[in-house]
Amino acid sequence: MISSHLDTEVLFKRLSQSILHLFAPWLALYKKLHLDSLISSRYHARDFSEIRAQYIDSRVRLLAGMFTFLTPMWIPIDYLILEDDHFLPMVCARILFALLLMFLWILPSDRCSMLQARVRLILLMILPSLFHISTQWILGSVSDSELLICYTFLPLLIIAMHSIFPLTLSEGIGLASFTIVLLSLDELSNNTLFTIRGLGHLWLLCLIMGVAIWAQLSQLHIELKMHHQSITDPLTGLLNRRTLMKLLEHEKKRHQRHGRSSSLMMLDMDYFKQINDCYGHGMGDRVLQRFSQIIREQTRGSDILARYGGEEFIVILPETSAEDATILAERIHDANHRLPLPTVSGEPLFFTVSIGITEFNDNDSLESTLSKTDEALYQAKEAGRNCTIVRS
Ligand code: GH3
Ligand code: MG
Ligand code: MG
Repeated sequence: MISSHLDTEVLFKRLSQSILHLFAPWLALYKKLHLDSLISSRYHARDFSEIRAQYIDSRVRLLAGMFTFLTPMWIPIDYLILEDDHFLPMVCARILFALLLMFLWILPSDRCSMLQARVRLILLMILPSLFHISTQWILGSVSDSELLICYTFLPLLIIAMHSIFPLTLSEGIGLASFTIVLLSLDELSNNTLFTIRGLGHLWLLCLIMGVAIWAQLSQLHIELKMHHQSITDPLTGLLNRRTLMKLLEHEKKRHQRHGRSSSLMMLDMDYFKQINDCYGHGMGDRVLQRFSQIIREQTRGSDILARYGGEEFIVILPETSAEDATILAERIHDANHRLPLPTVSGEPLFFTVSIGITEFNDNDSLESTLSKTDEALYQAKEAGRNCTIVRS
């Protein structure tokens, strides 16, 4: 009885391992392409969301501005091709539509949040859709005549407009479904949606929408990639100095608000010049990469890791006392010792690091916190390297 239970357990374990093995390349591809960030904005960094919100808002206002001018410019053509009883309501609809879009165009854009950008984007899709419904309602059955065919093109333009926004898959599908339902209201109310013509029309809108969503994702992918490149150091994959300075200010403010002790750790590789001189720059680079991997493994997800300069690194440790930071520093020294790099000749290359630690203090400016950490690091060098000094 026990043995059959164990057999099932082993079988189940092997089966789940094989399934994991089967999907491993797809999971790796998922991680490599950052597909989670393409699917939902939940995975976007705060500063990326701020940039994207500004970008979406500027495009919404650009399109709103263009429509504000272009819509009344069609009035002379209305005059030429519409009958008198359609012309006047059409002019009123155009002027009302242009005024509403002008309102969207001139909305203040300073520090537009993602929520505001989304609301403005939805408004940009609602207004032309309502204008289209109203033109169809004004023209009634005459809109089918060949002369007035140009009055049925607006839905295609509205769908094409979706393609210029860098949206995630969930945002793109949500906005697309909303717009298509809105554009189908007219046909739904006339009971013409489920005719061959209505369904053909709907199918065309969905096809163009598919292409628009593809364009949205491509734009978002490029922007995510560019943003990632702009904030990281290419050799180690850690944050670069510019991003670090921004995050340091943010952490300093957070510390002032909450008052919980946070620490700053500065790490400098010992005798790194000698490593370069003896083993070459390529090996030096590999040491930097291995060391970055070590600090990544030893720290928590909430810690902020950055390459500060050549062979200098900084770790921001939110809600961590200097005492706890020292324990982490010891783990880093220990991991360096346990994980040497093999050289070309096969002998292991051991590397060490000196570490300076300071706790954030309400009375200190950011510059003085940094210089205190730098002094602690200098003292660690003076004390013989491969050690940690805490400065209060
Ligand atoms: P100390 O123990 O006092 O820190 O000595 P050190 O040799 O580490 O310090 P020093 O500042 O004299 O030398 C740092 C060296 O780091 C010099 C520079 O060539 C090297 N370095 C800086 N950036 C890189 C890099 O990206 N790759 C490689 N391979 N070397 C780098
Ligand atoms: Mg140095
Ligand atoms: Mg050094």
